[in-house]
Amino acid sequence: MAIPSRIEQLCIDKGMKMTGQRRVIAGVLSEAADHPDVEEVYRRATQLDPRISIATVYRTVRLFEEASILERHDFGDGRSRYEEITDDHHDHLIDVQTGRVIEFQNGEIEELKEKIAAIHGFKLIGHRLELFGVPIDSQKKKGGKR
Ligand SMILES: [Zn+2]
Repeated sequence: MAIPSRIEQLCIDKGMKMTGQRRVIAGVLSEAADHPDVEEVYRRATQLDPRISIATVYRTVRLFEEASILERHDFGDGRSRYEEITDDHHDHLIDVQTGRVIEFQNGEIEELKEKIAAIHGFKLIGHRLELFGVPIDSQKKKGGKR
């Protein structure tokens, strides 16, 4: 038996029943260093097991999300993207031209968010921050080439 992937182990710890297909999808998501959408997870999973259907991927991803194993993101293109929930918090900067996602951490922003909540009489328990941009270089080039 193969060693369980990180996400598979989380599922086992939470008492979820792990079928072979779920195990494959858990493995794909554990290995993802990006923020794949369901179709991308499906593409990767079917390379390992061609019998997996897109419906199974949808169901499994939703299940993992409900179990607080995956976090769902909306990066503005109408597609839900997923990443494993970890302790190291980060925010996202999205290149709207290519869809590339850059992860960043910024202590000042973190402090500021807490300050804003406190000003309004709240203790911060969660937040989401997405920045959308275009590379400055590609803006400069516009009008030149092409
Ligand atoms: Zn991320």
